[in-house]
Amino acid sequence: METGGRLGLITPHTGNFCEGCNRLRVTATGQLYPCLGGSERVDLRAALRSEEPDARVADALSRALMIKPEKHHFRMDERGAAPHLPRHMSMTGG
Ligand code: SF4
Repeated sequence: METGGRLGLITPHTGNFCEGCNRLRVTATGQLYPCLGGSERVDLRAALRSEEPDARVADALSRALMIKPEKHHFRMDERGAAPHLPRHMSMTGG
């Protein structure tokens, strides 16, 4: 049955598109991850709850952009290799 919808697949392993990525993700616990494929993060919740939230949030955002990796390092070379990330993608909405 035709729905008019379109189905798309994101293929970061075979078609790396990190070069143009400008995305940041915030978890429900206030952790700001600059990359789905990395463990780098800054604590946005602590910044928001600080004595100077505007300045601390601005610093946190700057820091997140500074530590944003150039690209992911997902492992594709070894069948059964341990996952690169210690967290599930669902934590960051990926
Ligand atoms: S792996 Fe990281 S840098 Fe690459 S597209 Fe995903 S979020 Fe962006």
